[in-house]
Amino acid sequence: MLYSKLVQLYQQLESTPKRLQKTNYLAQFLSTLNDEDISHTMLLIQGRAFPQWDQRVIGLADKTLVKAIVLATGKTAEEIEQLWKTTGDLGNTAATTIATKKQATLFSEPLTTKKVFENLQKTATMEGEGTVDRKLQLIAELLTSAMPDEARYLVRTCLEDLRVGIGDGSLRDAIVWACFGQELSLQYSEQENDLALSDEQRTKYDAHVTAVQEAYDLTNDFAHIFKISKKGINELKNITLTTGKPCNVMLYPKAQNIPEAFETVGKPAAFENKYDGFRLQIHKNNKAVLLFTRRLEDVTQQFPEVVHRVNNFIQGNSFIIDAEAVGIDLATEKYLPFQNISQRIKRKYDIRATAEKSPVVVFAFDILFYNNESLINKPFSQRRQLLASIIRPQKNQVELAEQQIIEDEQTAEAFYKKALASGYEGVMIKKLNGIYKPGSRVGYGVKLKPIMETLDVAIVGAEWGEGKRSAWLSSFTIAVQNEKGELLEIGKVGTGIKEKDEEGISFNHFTELLKPHILRNEGKNVFVKPTVVIEVAYEEIQQSPTYSSGYALRFPRFVRIRDDKSLQTISTTTDVEKLYGEQRGRDS
Ligand code: ATP
Repeated sequence: MLYSKLVQLYQQLESTPKRLQKTNYLAQFLSTLNDEDISHTMLLIQGRAFPQWDQRVIGLADKTLVKAIVLATGKTAEEIEQLWKTTGDLGNTAATTIATKKQATLFSEPLTTKKVFENLQKTATMEGEGTVDRKLQLIAELLTSAMPDEARYLVRTCLEDLRVGIGDGSLRDAIVWACFGQELSLQYSEQENDLALSDEQRTKYDAHVTAVQEAYDLTNDFAHIFKISKKGINELKNITLTTGKPCNVMLYPKAQNIPEAFETVGKPAAFENKYDGFRLQIHKNNKAVLLFTRRLEDVTQQFPEVVHRVNNFIQGNSFIIDAEAVGIDLATEKYLPFQNISQRIKRKYDIRATAEKSPVVVFAFDILFYNNESLINKPFSQRRQLLASIIRPQKNQVELAEQQIIEDEQTAEAFYKKALASGYEGVMIKKLNGIYKPGSRVGYGVKLKPIMETLDVAIVGAEWGEGKRSAWLSSFTIAVQNEKGELLEIGKVGTGIKEKDEEGISFNHFTELLKPHILRNEGKNVFVKPTVVIEVAYEEIQQSPTYSSGYALRFPRFVRIRDDKSLQTISTTTDVEKLYGEQRGRDS
């Protein structure tokens, strides 16, 4: 397929903020895809060259791209940087530069999506000496053949900043529209921006959306789901878990208290400690072990000791196990806050030394797949029984989550109190005959913890400090998301961040984290590409015209960086409204 066709889609998507209209553009585009183009084009639509769960990323630096534009256009780096200053966007800069370039491209071939994809993949997989130059050549080769609009999106893709405003939800719906549109008699009216479905049609439509979502939750692979959907809705039911490809983890809604928890999950229920670390999905296929975080990042290399333990202390040829990895101080046997081990997730070098310095213990709490069989539709009690039978627990290395089956409130209260007294975050309360529903918060289990709910927010801006803090970003603008995934500001936070690196997460640390993502400066204010998610506590939520969310946090305080959370899973305006309502209920 010609890359220009994909660029046309990008432009259409960018031209409208309306989700349904975007879905319509996507669906029309998908309907024109040839089978051989599906896999790579589906990734390019998402601005990727690799699936989310692949360790490889494109990740080219601004500077490299400036050099590639120089190579492709014959302009000087100064000219390009000057233009970049005025446009504020390297993609637009590339487009303008290509449009006015001196070098003729009469003989260059039109770009295809396949060529773009191949070159992007190659740049990401190159390692060793001379790599920077070779990467440059690959990108310059693409830019040389690119028309101005193509150059814009090429550069944005290289920067992993496509900004066409589509999320997983739109792609999922577009697959439904493209594959089942006729059968469901879907007709999108651009004027009304509506599908105008009757109740009966709506029910059928929702069932199709759910089927596609469920298949996606199992595989995280839209290309695969699209290919299967083209064969018919029933084919989707055959999609199952595979070791090596992470599935979305099941999430747990919050219960206010023990009676409410019992109401949701039934009696008796399984009570477990709530370990405070990060979620680890453990895959094994023969000797090959893979470890994924909740965001589906592959962290196998970062945790060699866990791989070793999985091979030695858990039986089975193939399995997928759900677990929590918790930092531990082996001298005192005390569990450590997530912050102490979070740096291990990103670590690329000195892995052994870091592993020794920041050990983790793994608590296994569920099993989804065993010896080539999916277990997600089996009751939790059976899954847990199997899990217990295949693990040979090793203290402070790999353990089974502590569990007690409880049916009366008094015993439940005692279990909860004991968990808190032992320093756990709270308890998880699970339905004994509940299935495992990837990606959902369905109530087959709930969490119960005492503290005031915190918010997970994205940092979207900051302010340079004053006086001795002048080299640091010191006050951070934070945002929650609305249902469309747009970020809306809710306040500024500086409290809770340390002056000195030795004391914990410092201003210096944040400055280093955010600097590469600064989009523009306005006086002392900077705007950053949202990449960092943090958890904040606060005293109260207030309504406020100051911030675009309509709310402000009173006395916000930084709690920790949430490396394990993606932008798509940060708190929503609905969460904020709910908390605001609950707080009013409490006050009155
Ligand atoms: P969310 O509700 O979005 O998951 P969150 O990450 O703040 O928000 P938590 O309050 O951390 O949610 O509670 C759920 C997490 O608790 C799980 O994702 C898992 O990582 C962790 N966890 C710890 N112990 C257990 C356990 N025994 N069973 C299941 N999950 C556990």
